[in-house]
Amino acid sequence: MVRRPFIAGNWKMNTTRSEAVQLVEALREAVAGVDGVDMAVCPPSVYLDAVSAAVQGSSVALGAQNMYHQAKGAYTGELSAAMLLDVGCRYVILGHSERRHVLGESNEDVCRKVHAAFAAGLTPIVCVGETLDEREANKTTDIVAEQFFGSLAGIDGDQAAQVVIAYEPVWAIGTGVVATVAQAGEVHANLRGMMTSRYGAAVADQIRIQYGGSVTADNAAELLAISDIDGALVGGASLKADSFAKIIRAAVS
Ligand code: PEP
Repeated sequence: MVRRPFIAGNWKMNTTRSEAVQLVEALREAVAGVDGVDMAVCPPSVYLDAVSAAVQGSSVALGAQNMYHQAKGAYTGELSAAMLLDVGCRYVILGHSERRHVLGESNEDVCRKVHAAFAAGLTPIVCVGETLDEREANKTTDIVAEQFFGSLAGIDGDQAAQVVIAYEPVWAIGTGVVATVAQAGEVHANLRGMMTSRYGAAVADQIRIQYGGSVTADNAAELLAISDIDGALVGGASLKADSFAKIIRAAVS
């Protein structure tokens, strides 16, 4: 099956309000007329509203970088899935390595959020990936399996077909060290196998798996050419409209 590629930009905590709006306006212009690829930007949550207004009528979709699993209530500082939908989000990144490793999120936390995202109608982008120590200890497959099965526990086949998985080796995020084609290809193929074992081939064939970790305009084409890599989750290179637009174009060329 040919899955539609999906390129998402994770701006993390890196823009001001005016930078966010300028960036998305420039991106909108740079990708006008580009077809055959889904694209999204994930700005800091306080600027979602402003960026949402700026992407109206374009093919650039909006995503959030995180959310809380509860629908409403006394959860100071948190945002619900309904709130994200309300400001125009279609996607939400869940279980990013910075949330897992810096902010202590577990697979159970991520799983609760995945359920809440689906219940509200958001598409989760669920991140998985091993640290350097785990890779060096030959634990990559175990860690990725634990995160994949743990984060999607209780998710049925219809929902799984919609989910986006981002394989992001922690050692490649923001480091400039990109996984080799062989390293990324191996993990993506393993993930496809896990999906098949859990959901069957028909569903597994529909699930998009992004690669993330120092993707740039220069290395995107090579990574995106791998059959089980269906897109990219991009950090640093999504902060410049021209480099992000080149990555988006690489997904369709
Ligand atoms: C990310 O934040 O998910 C990421 C992959 O960052 P970078 O592209 O900067 O490595």
